[in-house]
Amino acid sequence: MGVVGAGQLARMMGEAASAVNVELLVLASSLDEAATATADHVVLGQPDDVVALRALAQRVDVVTFDHELVNLEQIRALEDEGVCVRPNAHALRFAVDKAYQRETLREAGFAVPRFLVVGASDDPLLDSFLDQLDGPPVLKAARGGYDGRGVLFPPDRATAKSQIDELHGAVVVEERYELRGEVAQLIARATNGSVQVYPLVSTVQSDGMCVEVRYPAEVTAALASEAGALAEQLASLLEAVGILAIEFFVTDGGLVINEVALRPHNSGHWTIEGVRTSQFANHLLAVSGQPLGDVSALTTHAVMVNVVGGEQPATPDAARALSDLYVHDYGKSWRVGRKLGHVTVLGDDAATTHVRAWTGAHHYGTRTREVS
Ligand code: ADP
Repeated sequence: MGVVGAGQLARMMGEAASAVNVELLVLASSLDEAATATADHVVLGQPDDVVALRALAQRVDVVTFDHELVNLEQIRALEDEGVCVRPNAHALRFAVDKAYQRETLREAGFAVPRFLVVGASDDPLLDSFLDQLDGPPVLKAARGGYDGRGVLFPPDRATAKSQIDELHGAVVVEERYELRGEVAQLIARATNGSVQVYPLVSTVQSDGMCVEVRYPAEVTAALASEAGALAEQLASLLEAVGILAIEFFVTDGGLVINEVALRPHNSGHWTIEGVRTSQFANHLLAVSGQPLGDVSALTTHAVMVNVVGGEQPATPDAARALSDLYVHDYGKSWRVGRKLGHVTVLGDDAATTHVRAWTGAHHYGTRTREVS
């Protein structure tokens, strides 16, 4: 299997690969990238260089992705040449373009925020759209954003307009919610259309970035089963193969879809230790055409905390010395604001599991702040 991109997701695919009998090649832009340590083979090249993509494709049976910062035309061209790509370019468009994603979801009848796609602040529909909202909107670059980069929260309309023009390209302008919380639903879909629905989790964000994931999700059983049902509908609508991650806002009016990713997701890192078949193993099983693995939880509670580089260089050593804590080091060089690793704790109750996970993340030197 070839993976386009060699970040931490590809690294963790590499860790899972031998147990599911997959040989992994990654397309890395340099030998320093996170996944070069766990992959069986490395092909050097940029993810949007068609020559490099072809060099990867020639050596594998199937191609999948670590991230969605790819050129869809190039992926389509590979498919036309007979390369097996999973998820395919048709499904991938959904992940690459937030505007297309919102439009497709709305047309299919899923609950999404009210939104308008504009190219610039002089769009003739913009003022009347903003008039319908209770307050200032949220702005999202349609392409290229991740971890809150490309998402802006302007304080007023005038700022919103100048920020729309600063973002360049298509911008999704959408209503801003008072969130009750956020949850993420992972689902694995195999080539024959069968699915495995993961246990729902709550995600906790700070500065637009996910800092903590909690299992079980802090919502009613009814909402949790609704999230699972929506994920099944979406997986069959997209006909995606592999992991799909659906991020939901929990609002006063119920679940609203924020975003869908077609790859393993930060909200699923806890499944490495917390679920019988991790998201990485199931992604590889699905993409390689094998039957999926069971996704029963192996614990009553789990907390995963991301480790993000702060002012002082961090190392995992002190966290590793703590007991009952799983420490994952992505092998990246230290940089302020960069995701360097994560820690996971399995436990018997929510409060102590949370405290132990944050103690571990602080020992690791994370700059993220605990949100209670
Ligand atoms: P990214 O793709 O960069 O992760 P998201 O669209 O998921 O960006 O937004 C990041 C975070 O910003 C969300 O998890 C949420 O906390 C907040 N956010 C995004 N859109 C809205 C919105 N419409 N209303 C309220 N909060 C939002």
